Amino acid sequence: MSKPLQAIRGMNDLLPEQTPLWRYFEKTVAELLDGYGYRQIRMPIVEFTELFKRSIGEVTDIVEKEMYTFADRNGDSLTLRPEGTASCVRAVLEHGLAGSGQVQKLWYQGPMFRHERPQKGRYRQFHQIGVEAFNLVGPDVDAELIILTWRLWKKLGISEHVKLELNSLGTADIRVLYREALVEYLTARYDQLDEDSQRRIASNPLRVLDSKNPQTQALLGEAPQLEDYLNEASQAHFAGLRARLDAAGVPYVINPRLVRGLDYYSESVFEWVTDQLGAQGTVCAGGRYDGLVEQMGGRATPGVGFAMGVERLILMLETLGQIPAELSRQVDVYFCAFGEACELAALALAERLRDRLPGLRLQVNAGAGSFKSQFKKADKSGALYALILGDDELQAQTIAIKPLRTDAEQQSVAWSDLSEHLQAALQHDPLLIK
Ligand code: ATP
Ligand code: MG
Repeated sequence: MSKPLQAIRGMNDLLPEQTPLWRYFEKTVAELLDGYGYRQIRMPIVEFTELFKRSIGEVTDIVEKEMYTFADRNGDSLTLRPEGTASCVRAVLEHGLAGSGQVQKLWYQGPMFRHERPQKGRYRQFHQIGVEAFNLVGPDVDAELIILTWRLWKKLGISEHVKLELNSLGTADIRVLYREALVEYLTARYDQLDEDSQRRIASNPLRVLDSKNPQTQALLGEAPQLEDYLNEASQAHFAGLRARLDAAGVPYVINPRLVRGLDYYSESVFEWVTDQLGAQGTVCAGGRYDGLVEQMGGRATPGVGFAMGVERLILMLETLGQIPAELSRQVDVYFCAFGEACELAALALAERLRDRLPGLRLQVNAGAGSFKSQFKKADKSGALYALILGDDELQAQTIAIKPLRTDAEQQSVAWSDLSEHLQAALQHDPLLIK
């Protein structure tokens, strides 16, 4: 017998019970970004493998072991995007969106793919919403990006459960000096390091700083600090960012070990972390990447951005019970009609209602059925009202409106008054989505 067909491990279906919360989340973010003047861009999900190798860096976890890479039919090496910044920069360059110093404030959303070990908050297909700003040298725009996420957390009701961590990585040249000092320090303690960190001394020594291994962390106590290497310009940039966050009242902590997993960052980097999700605690992460556009073949163009992990934020909303009440109901009004003639009249009335009350979520009974069975379906739908059209109503050109969630009396209304009546009945309903 053949194996039952299943989704790929770590790639999830979003079922109808889950999608209202996702839509609410996505809508909230989209409206917020509109409010700050960011415009949406949509890139393909598949790109040439070379794009990610060149932008993310050959010796990062993503490129070394997490990418879904395959040969196209013509032999090209393609990769399902593991993140959005590389594709966004590629699109910006390809279409000249940031030429001659033009400012671009962009955002995107969609699935990303990484071959990781699936667990709570970590999947192989996951979703990000990313925001990028080009040709703004900061630190004002760095602050804006953080402030807008802070506003988002407040809007979503999770701001008390996230913490902002900040660091400055300085410029690429000072990182070369710092790297030498760090390699020397680590090499002297080689035998005490975990295996991953040993390997990283040669490939990506800064990543040792954010090793999760407690013994390695303990060893780093006396390690040279990147902060002591920052030049004046980097220090001023970082101080400017902190001053703006202070002015806006955004709390943060400086984490000198925060280095981020991707090669392209410089100056400010940040992560929003929570203690609500176990090991997968980072819900949003980003920073400045002034060298990336040039590294990808464009003219030097400052850039800064972040990406948030949608699954992790949704998990937080669920864990904290921050789910708006209006999401619990999908149907406002359920239309019951009995017999062919009544069904035809109901259909016409329903379409007229949809014209007049565009926000109304109206479910017309399908599949006929007895009075009892239609009523059961109306009740199960969660609707607030049932509309009832039987032979008597058809004859009188009226309709019965029955409240399903209160003890209020059923009312009889003329067809011509139906939309006004429903509008009035529903307008005080806090659950009705406008
Ligand atoms: P982590 O350290 O958790 O692996 P990362 O540094 O690899 O994260 P980024 O590349 O910065 O993550 O992506 C930004 C955000 O996207 C993360 O902070 C996280 O919220 C989310 N994210 C990253 N990888 C996954 C994944 N495999 N599943 C779900 N969400 C993810
Ligand atoms: Mg990762």
